[in-house]
Amino acid sequence: MRVRSSYPWFFFFRIVQLSLLIFFPVLVSIFIIDRTVFVRILTPALLGQALFVFMFYRATRPLGTILSKVQKFRGDLPFDTTIRQLYEKDEWLKIETALNDADSKFKDQINQTKMENEKIAAILESIYDAIIAIDPFETLLFSNTNFQKNFVIKSDSGIIPKLWHIFDQPELLENFRRVLKDGQPKTLKSLVHNGRYYDLVVTPLRGVSDKVIGALGAFHDVTDFKLTEQMRVDFVANVSHEIRTPLTSIKGYSQILFANREKFPAELAGFLSKILGNTERMIALFTDLLNLSVIESKNQIGIEVVQLSPLLGIIIPNIKTNYPDKKIEFKSDFQALTLEADPRLIEMVLTNLIDNACKYSGEKITITVLSSEVKGKTFLRVMDNGPGIAKEHIQRIFERFYRVESSREASRGTGLGLSIVKHIIMKHGGRIWAESEGTGLGSTFVMELPSKQILNLHTID
Ligand code: ADP
Repeated sequence: MRVRSSYPWFFFFRIVQLSLLIFFPVLVSIFIIDRTVFVRILTPALLGQALFVFMFYRATRPLGTILSKVQKFRGDLPFDTTIRQLYEKDEWLKIETALNDADSKFKDQINQTKMENEKIAAILESIYDAIIAIDPFETLLFSNTNFQKNFVIKSDSGIIPKLWHIFDQPELLENFRRVLKDGQPKTLKSLVHNGRYYDLVVTPLRGVSDKVIGALGAFHDVTDFKLTEQMRVDFVANVSHEIRTPLTSIKGYSQILFANREKFPAELAGFLSKILGNTERMIALFTDLLNLSVIESKNQIGIEVVQLSPLLGIIIPNIKTNYPDKKIEFKSDFQALTLEADPRLIEMVLTNLIDNACKYSGEKITITVLSSEVKGKTFLRVMDNGPGIAKEHIQRIFERFYRVESSREASRGTGLGLSIVKHIIMKHGGRIWAESEGTGLGSTFVMELPSKQILNLHTID
């Protein structure tokens, strides 16, 4: 901003006064001593004095600019100081007092900034999470004590470490790089480092012009939670596994008895068929529980390029044999011929969804499987012309043991199928949701899976 200059008149008049105090006594003395000399020098002397006044006026102009600048930051000084300076006439004094006041104000401000910095540092230090900040070139800008305690910063002495000096996990480095590039926060769950589990949240650091000037990573230690979760998963897996063995044996004996049912009274044969039915249901239930536990406990999934057409070529005939009395028509349109997934798990997903379409629809069923690729994501749709799902159930069908049917109909499934499907999709870093126009209008299950990128591992929410 340009500062309008005000002229230091007080100082100017004082000097002019002083010069006149010398000029006039000299002139008077010459007049007394020799009048002819006086007459001769009078005009040049007066011209000289006028020239001096003019030159002095010009020479003191820069002082005016300095004075104006001082007056400008007067506004930033405390009110009483500004008032005091208003009554000060001498410009030098004004400058001196303003500079003194400014000096003490700057010192105050420096102290305040120091205190603010100390406060921020103390807050960052007291945060339980390990925190790190990097610049756009991945150079370490800041790390709190928790970070230094848990992560080894290895770098040649004297060189400020880069992110890759600290971490070698490609998915972690990729997360930071994406945040620096896109300016969008990213999360990475269940990151394993030195035997501990962390949930990482990376957020962009923005400068005044909203430009990304770095990234901040907060590592939240979830080891205890993970271990408890693992114990729960292991427990369910062990129980399911242990129970399936005697159940299989009960089923085997029941089948033998059922085959010889003519040897028993007719009413006992009825009980036998109930025992067999319920045993099969329990085996299905524990099989689903075991599957769910295995999927939950997976830290890593093996991503491969899966060809959709051959995969469905295996699934469809298998399912059709389970429903010999139903007329099942199958249609497909694969705009994306492949998808990136764990082949065994994606087979489980499609089997579950297509089996549900057959199980819950009437005698004549049309199932359509569509695939497409949009913006680096593969979309997979499984549609049927079955009974559809009412609005009040559609959000809840992915919950464990949630079933829409009455208890009699519910015997058709375990209530875990869609829960398994959801967890598999989540492990792939994707999403699944159901769409239905309402009862009697069919259902569509839509899956969104990341493609052509490093996949993040996701745990169950
Ligand atoms: P289950 O293993 O018992 O089949 P799921 O978790 O697979 O349980 O499904 C949960 C509920 O969602 C089912 O009780 C059923 O009512 C409903 N459902 C699932 N798929 C369909 C479908 N294709 N059409 C209509 N309802 C469905």
